[in-house]
Amino acid sequence: MLILTCPVCGVTAEETEFHGGGEAHLTRHGPGSSDDDFEDYLFMRENPRGVHFERWRHVYGCGKWFHAARCTTTLEVFGTYPAQTTEPPKDLRAKISKKRPGWTWKDLA
Ligand SMILES: [Zn+2]
Repeated sequence: MLILTCPVCGVTAEETEFHGGGEAHLTRHGPGSSDDDFEDYLFMRENPRGVHFERWRHVYGCGKWFHAARCTTTLEVFGTYPAQTTEPPKDLRAKISKKRPGWTWKDLA
């Protein structure tokens, strides 16, 4: 079972208090984008074996969305952070790199 901490209200609870919202940090493509970009935005998702960044909502608490970094194999939660970010905080990325040597954050540029 995942134990998550909501970065908005500070409550730490089991995952049943939250609801998963899929992959975090998607690049959104709308009108004017190519069909391939829009198709990728709609359907293509990472399915890593290891570090993954996800959206979660604190449904039985403050109701706010946030992001979480966790390992899909061990269920270790590296940290949570506000949803209003385009990439994980540097201190969280450093923490993950320390625990998972060789891991790097994808280049969003
Ligand atoms: Zn909350």
